[in-house]
Formats: sequence, structure tokens, C-alpha cells
Amino acid sequence: MSRVLATLEKIDALHADGNGRPVKGPVIPHEATLDDMAGYGDAKDWGLDLARDIADWRTGSISWEEVDKGILLSGPPGVGKTIFSRALAATCGVELVVASYAKWQARGHLGDFLKAMLASFAEAKKKAPSILFIDELDAFGERTAGGTDNSSYDVKAINGLLEQLDGLDGREGVVVVGACNHPEWIDAAITRPGRLDRHVRIPVPDLEARAGIFRMHLRGALSDGEHMAFAEATEGMTGAAIEQIVREARRTARKRRQQLSAEDVFRHVPPMVVMPPQVVRVNAIHEVGHAVVGAVLGMNLEKVSISKTLRLAPQHQSVGRAVFKRNPWARRTKEHYLDIIAMTVAGMAAEQLFLGCWDDGASGGAGSDLHEATMTAIALERSFGMGQKLASYGPIDDKIASDIKSLDAALMAQVDAILRKQLERAMTILERHRDACVRLAAELVERGELPGREVLDALDEGGEQGNPVVRGYG
Ligand code: ADP
Repeated sequence: MSRVLATLEKIDALHADGNGRPVKGPVIPHEATLDDMAGYGDAKDWGLDLARDIADWRTGSISWEEVDKGILLSGPPGVGKTIFSRALAATCGVELVVASYAKWQARGHLGDFLKAMLASFAEAKKKAPSILFIDELDAFGERTAGGTDNSSYDVKAINGLLEQLDGLDGREGVVVVGACNHPEWIDAAITRPGRLDRHVRIPVPDLEARAGIFRMHLRGALSDGEHMAFAEATEGMTGAAIEQIVREARRTARKRRQQLSAEDVFRHVPPMVVMPPQVVRVNAIHEVGHAVVGAVLGMNLEKVSISKTLRLAPQHQSVGRAVFKRNPWARRTKEHYLDIIAMTVAGMAAEQLFLGCWDDGASGGAGSDLHEATMTAIALERSFGMGQKLASYGPIDDKIASDIKSLDAALMAQVDAILRKQLERAMTILERHRDACVRLAAELVERGELPGREVLDALDEGGEQGNPVVRGYG
């Protein structure tokens, strides 16, 4: 093994947590630039243009006003938004400053949050020309999400961010790269012209991109033909999952005290299984439940889809989803949130109605339908003043929710009543459209995806407009 490789392996070890996941940052060779990387589509083109502009600005042939000042990257976790910013900084030959909502929030109070945010911007200005990477931009939420309480933490946090972004105007040398999983949750003011007005979605990598990612992480250890074979075996996997496969493969080769082989890699590719038809049918009925109830309640259904294969991997995988388009102008009233709860529990309602009971895919775990609906109901009762009490605990996250649940004995009974009522409401709607639901579920099993229009057409009555939903559920 060459010394360079040995050093990189040591860095690998430093970057891995107990689960083998990277914790401190990516393991990419220092010299990795955008040219070495695959899977970024338009974002890569933007980055290469930026590098050219910065080079021109450095030689004085263009002014800073002509350089793009920022971009918003969105995409599921693990598609490489964070390492993009590192490769971008390397390509542009500038410093990188890494920040995130959680990092700024780590010290607790709003004052500390703002101070930490200011420090990141100050550091980026000091190191200019530089890239300031801000992760979890969607954690700021929308300023109006909890009503119009201008004194709330989020409002001040977001105003502080806007001030900093505007403060960069005319100031030379700082480019901001924002990253998020849910761009639709981001306050519109952040993406206004002059701020992060350019948005690129980074998809889960396609075949070519996966081969490129294997090539990069294997650092020339195996052939192009083998990279392509790995890519074919890893459909649907993110760059992060690929990196983990390579890391484990390398560990296996090390144990054998032999050179890494293609077999080592294949051994760590989780197999893809075709789900049995009865499981696919349950998923289809569940998703049709979301889609039909959402559409009947006037939400703008884009599509509903299910998958028929599943990778035997520990990571959570979605086996279906109903996607709704967001209407940014919708009033978020009590009815709006009740509709959302009804739509969120509608998958369970459909399972109950058509299969006699639901299973724990819909309930239980963090991020499950029932958990999400419960969090919304808690917010309605104890944050938005739309339940039995006006007093607000402020924004509700998992930690606050668990604190409140132990302090506030009446809360869970009230939340339970809301959930039950909305579950019954969802079942009534589905019962009304029973035949259409059965037809749609069969169609979904057959085709894997149905456009929203087709669902609406299948219903006896179209969805009434109004109360559009904020995001897709599945
Ligand atoms: P995100 O910020 O989108 O959650 P990260 O940038 O943290 O994803 O990616 C996690 C790890 O996955 C990276 O350290 C990198 O090793 C690997 N990875 C993800 N996408 C890519 C890619 N396109 N090319 C190479 N490696 C990738």
C-alpha cells in the first residue's frame, strides 16, 4: 500500500463514528475538485462557472458584482451536499467555512445563536475569498409557521440570517452555499433575488454518477468495468451509502491482509429484494389513502408512487409516497392543520378500512405517519393556540415535545382526541370513495406511479380547492 493510501486510511478511521459513518467531514483526497466528482449535474456546471469567475475576478478582469454570490442545494441526506462545498472551495482555490443551524444553536439562547452566526460570517469575510457553507437551512422554518409572533426565536434567527446575507452585498469575496433536505420549508425571503436565488436539486445518483462515485472512493484500486458493475448493483443508493460500502470493503481486505478486490466490494452491497405482492398491495393501499384524502381535502396532489423492490440495508427507505405541491400563500389555520393530520393518518385509515388493521410501518418510529401527526397535534394544542389553550411553548421539536409530555398531564389526552377524530374523518372520506380507492390501489400496484390528475379523475367528486398542503407525505 502506498504511503498516500495509508494516510488516507488513517483519515478514514478518524472520520468514522461507531457505526462507521463519517462524523467530522468527508474522506476525500485533499486535491479532490469538482472535476473529480460525479453526480452533481447543474450544481457542478454552476461551480465550474463560479471557479472561472473567481479566477477572472482575481485577475481584475471582472468585478465582484459579476460573480454569483450564492446557491441553495437541496436533496436527500447523503447525496453529497456537504462535500460539494469542499470540492467547490478546492476548485475555486478559496477557503471554506462550514456552519449549520445546529452548530449555531448548540449554545442554546437566541443571543448565543446570533453571536455564533455572526462569527461564521465574520470568519468567512476574514478568510475571503471564501465559501461559507450553511447546512440545514430548512431548520429555520418559515417565519410565519407558528403565527405572527414577531418575537419568536425563529423570526429573530431568520432575520439575523437575512441581515448577514444582505451584509455581504457589495462586500467582496464571500460566496454562500446553503444546503437543506426540504427546500419547500425555507422562508421565501432567503431565496429572494440577491440572496440565495439560485436553487439546484441534487438527486440520488444515477448509474453513471454511481460509477463515478465508486471510482473516486476506490482511488484507482479497481477497473472502470468493475466500477460500472458496482454501479449496476447499487441502484437507489446515495453517495454516502456507496462510501460506506467502500469503507467496509477496504476493512475486509485489510483483515485478509490482501489487496482490495471486487468481491470485497460486492460482499458489502446490500442485496435488493423484490417485495412479495401482498406487501406491495399493502403499500399501495396505504399510499392511496394519503393521496385520496389529501386530494378530497383540496390539497394539490402531484403524484403517488410505490416501489416494488427494497434494499436489505439498515437505512430507512421509503416504499411509497404521495407528493403534494405546496401553495406558499395558503393560510395556515386550524382547519389547515386538521386537514394535514387527517391526510397524514389516512394511510393508516386505509389499512384499517381495507385490510382490517394497520401495521407498524405507519406508526411508532420517529418520522412515521403517527409520530408526525402527533407532533402536528401537539403544535396545534401547545404552540399555535389552536386547541384548548392559548399559552404557547414556542416551536415544538422532539425534545420540547417530550419535556411537555411529562410536565403537561392533560396534553396527550387532548392530542389523542384530535388524532382519533381525524382518523375517523379520513376513514369516512375513504369509505365514500371505496370503489375508487380499490381501483386506484390496483392501478398503483400495476404501474408503480399515478399522476395526481388521474387520482382526482377517479374520485366521484373532485378535490375542492383551498387548504393546499405544505409538503409530500408517504
Ligand atoms: P449530505 O450533505 O448531502 O447529507 P454529505 O456531503 O455529508 O451528504 O455526504 C456524506 C458522504 O457521502 C461524503 O463524505 C462522501 O464520502 C459521500 N458522498 C456523497 N455524495 C457523494 C458524491 N457525489 N461523490 C462522492 N462521494 C459522495
